[in-house]
Amino acid sequence: MEVYCEDAAQGTSGSAGGSRGEARPPAKRSLGQNYLRDPEVTRRIVAALKAEPGDSLIEIGPGPGALTGHLLAGAPERLVLVEKDHAWAFARRETLREFPGVSGGVILADALELAWERVRGPWKIIGNLPYNVASPLMWEIFSRAGFSRAVFMIQKEVGERIAASPGSRAYGALSVWLQSFARPQLECIVPPQAFYPRPKVYSAVLSFTPLSREGTGSLPPPPALKPVLADLIRRCFQQRRKQLGTILREARGEAGLWEKSGIDPVLRPENLSPGDFLRLALVFSQRISL
Ligand code: SAM
Repeated sequence: MEVYCEDAAQGTSGSAGGSRGEARPPAKRSLGQNYLRDPEVTRRIVAALKAEPGDSLIEIGPGPGALTGHLLAGAPERLVLVEKDHAWAFARRETLREFPGVSGGVILADALELAWERVRGPWKIIGNLPYNVASPLMWEIFSRAGFSRAVFMIQKEVGERIAASPGSRAYGALSVWLQSFARPQLECIVPPQAFYPRPKVYSAVLSFTPLSREGTGSLPPPPALKPVLADLIRRCFQQRRKQLGTILREARGEAGLWEKSGIDPVLRPENLSPGDFLRLALVFSQRISL
């Protein structure tokens, strides 16, 4: 069942943009600038992050600061904002100056090019992500960063793909890759009227708990296996209607390889769980170079 973020389903009040009456530059489509204008929706998104006083937080694309204000109200120890738009980066730098007790700062950068591997430990990451970079950005963050929780708002269809189960039409490379690192949970659906300017599509808020923190016994892939796994997933879903044995032809001469992996080569990629892909990558990485 789809859960809507309360008020947004009925219409919204409030204006977009700089809360303190700061000048608001025209929204740039190229930067996916659809700003949140509903305080209740904003509050729910931040609540999904489960931030506690003293936490270390990263926000991607703070823009006019709707989420930033709520994050600061929660008294984090560190808050790092990553923003590609000069005007918003400078405006948010001013916001942070008003909170001298919070360390961190604003990074004026393309989040896609950030050295995410330097983010290690108990960081919590949040962002109302620009639609045009959301998928590659999440792929990068999950591959390289360490975090204790993440909450992202993204296009609803992308959210459905990420949370999809094996065997479903929406299940694909992005589902397998992100689910190899974290368990996604749909928090709520946000309709277009919650934003200014209004996008043409609905959005979804997803939270992510890293597998290692879940206590289910599932573990993320070891660093050395990540390139093999990523390559395997991409190759398989480029030909998702074919059988694994056909896609991975090079395995034919390798006696016992399929038996060892416990995976039937007549299956199709969409039938395999993220755990199956990990097992396959492990066996393959020991026998042949993909
Ligand atoms: N957080 C604000 C909100 O919820 O109202 C703004 C969200 S808006 C959908 C996306 C924000 O990400 C904009 O501020 C935009 O300038 C910024 N942005 C776009 N592409 C970016 C990128 N590649 N790296 C960092 N920030 C980016």
